[in-house]
Amino acid sequence: MSNLTEVLQHWQEDPAFLSNVTCWKVVPGADGKYLDFPESLNPRLKTALQKRGIGKLYSHQAAAIEAVEQDNHTVVVTPTASGKTLCYNLPVVSSVIKNPASRALYLFPTKALSQDQVAELRELTSDLDTPLNCHTYDGDTEAGLRQGIRRSGHIVVTNPDMLHSAILPHHTKWVQLFQNLQYIVVDEMHQYRGVFGSHVANVIRRLKRICAFYGSYPRFIMCSATIANPGELAEMLIQEPVKVITENGAPQAEKHFILYNPPLVNPELGLRRSSLLEAQQIASGLIKKGIQTIIFTRSRLGVEVLLTYLRQGLKLKTGEDSGIRGYRGGYLPRERRAIEQGLREGSIKGVVSTNALELGIDIGALDACVMTGYPGSIASTWQQAGRSGRRSGSSLAMLVANSEPLNQYIVSNPDYFFGRSPERALADPDNLIILTNHLRCAAFELPFEEGELFGQTEVSELLGFLAEQDVLYENDGRYHWMEDSYPAEEISLRSATRENVVIIDISRPSPQVIGEVDRFSAPMLVHEEAIYMHAGTQYQVEKLDFAEKKAYVRRVDVNYYTDANLSVDLKILDAFEEENGPVNLAWGEVRINALVSMFKKIRFNTHENLGAGPVDLPETEMHTSAFWLSFPPGSLGAMPLSEIQAGLIGLASVIPQAAALYLMSDPRDLRAVSQVKAPFTELPTLYLYDNFPGGVGYSREIFRNYREILKSVRKVITECRCSQGCPSCIGPAFRNGENGKQSALRLLGVILK
Ligand SMILES: [Zn+2]
Repeated sequence: MSNLTEVLQHWQEDPAFLSNVTCWKVVPGADGKYLDFPESLNPRLKTALQKRGIGKLYSHQAAAIEAVEQDNHTVVVTPTASGKTLCYNLPVVSSVIKNPASRALYLFPTKALSQDQVAELRELTSDLDTPLNCHTYDGDTEAGLRQGIRRSGHIVVTNPDMLHSAILPHHTKWVQLFQNLQYIVVDEMHQYRGVFGSHVANVIRRLKRICAFYGSYPRFIMCSATIANPGELAEMLIQEPVKVITENGAPQAEKHFILYNPPLVNPELGLRRSSLLEAQQIASGLIKKGIQTIIFTRSRLGVEVLLTYLRQGLKLKTGEDSGIRGYRGGYLPRERRAIEQGLREGSIKGVVSTNALELGIDIGALDACVMTGYPGSIASTWQQAGRSGRRSGSSLAMLVANSEPLNQYIVSNPDYFFGRSPERALADPDNLIILTNHLRCAAFELPFEEGELFGQTEVSELLGFLAEQDVLYENDGRYHWMEDSYPAEEISLRSATRENVVIIDISRPSPQVIGEVDRFSAPMLVHEEAIYMHAGTQYQVEKLDFAEKKAYVRRVDVNYYTDANLSVDLKILDAFEEENGPVNLAWGEVRINALVSMFKKIRFNTHENLGAGPVDLPETEMHTSAFWLSFPPGSLGAMPLSEIQAGLIGLASVIPQAAALYLMSDPRDLRAVSQVKAPFTELPTLYLYDNFPGGVGYSREIFRNYREILKSVRKVITECRCSQGCPSCIGPAFRNGENGKQSALRLLGVILK
């Protein structure tokens, strides 16, 4: 019996452990489905694969290669460790062997993945006699190498940001690439959603436009984690029909998947035992038995705290190696490579990581994975869980929930996990601000013809507008760029507008920009004394210069986060669709005026209020899209106004959390406002708006799917064990007022009747 089987058996007989388990599912193993190499596969490549022990392909690999050969744009939807890289590497390498002029462009969302990919490609092609040049092209690429890569790189591996700001604007230096571009590989496609996805869709419009100029029409090969709408997302990103391959042919070993809810310590406040401490206890038990384990946490702080606890728990002698390591952004590449290698070889028994190890970096397969808190989406959870599981024998994946509503919902509704994914990745390439910005970049790259479509979108009016603004000038039916500046430089793919506040880390020896937030979110996220999280690291804002759009921050390690108190005035400008019935529903364009007046410090896990402070910043205004729902006269019977108000406040607090399950959004991406007598509708009204200028498609999706989303909201509330409301459902009772929980349920009853 293996050590893991022994531990599992022990747990199965332990009533104290079992009382915290809300679901223990054994996902059965499956044999692989294999097919022979396609006839068309180059014999030399076939030999190279055979030498590496690959004698056949998994069925999904063969299906993908066939779809690509038949000239389809192709999307492969497969779990972690199912050999997805061969789905694109084989067609790409084959095409280069056949025609050494052929080129391919690979897009990965992060630099670390790009480097891994290049190493893998070089290994695969090392003994082919055709020399194959494969390079990463990103901010780290040495200036001396760049020219060679532009001229003779067969495969250029980069990221969307680099494509946007460094490659497309300088397309004249990349003629060999664009003239001969046969394939574009887009990996981790599900990451391209929300604002980032809306930008990337426009970058792809520009890329295709440049390719057409040089006479190439590349095929896209895309890979995605499991989501509800991979085909829809792919077609939104490339604006052409795609072939979707979802059947996984890779063999799978049996996996025990456990959802674990730490015991309640205060039912009234919804407080549970710390997920960090529970995860630590579980993981140390596993590691002590020699079971190789990866522990995921949501933050850098979590990594360090868990690492310390785990090492202390082992009671080592001085100088003895615990065999446990931390892994996160901020570690040096050399350190990371050593950890990855130690994991593959088995010399490292345990690793505590942020989601930095969730993506494709090769660490081999471990025995067990413990997740501290819900990773934020079902797709991420499966990717993290996929880090455990060898080809044979059992493996373990365990999710240890915290007290937040989404965590509680997931552990009490396991069907969401094991059923069809409800998560739809959304984006809006026609968001007016984002579209206009990329139109400027596109016009800089090549002049626009009168009547030319951008992707599938009609843009004559926008070109006319830019000409009026003296950004473009029109001559003989063509629009030319006329400003001196270079537009891509000031447009970040990670935020909606160009008016961003840059975040400067002053705790480094030389201050460095570590990120930016749009002007509308700045008062919420980077007011003075705010704790700003970046790549799992905590920073405290020391000074916000709103006029100069600069926030100065310093690294800290604290046990709290900050929550700014936002008062919002919302005005409806236009309703796009309406539906009147027992309740009235609509979505449309709104104007938001927001003022932040104070903030609170809130302790992690317990949500305890540790103090407050004032914020002195001007009001901000943005146009975005919103969904709204109002209760017509009579629909609420004789429900007192105070209870209607309490119910609306409760729903406003819980809906953005529950909607994240369907929209793959962060709960902060969607905001709710309630008005007991709204000026526009004159009725009790609940508004939910996209928290980005111009919106990214959430409001429309809620309008279409409100029943499904609100049913989940009802489950969150009814399944919560508090009596008056708590942070795990509608927020604490003191904030909601009288009978908040019952009132929220009563309103939902009316909506879902
Ligand atoms: Zn509750």
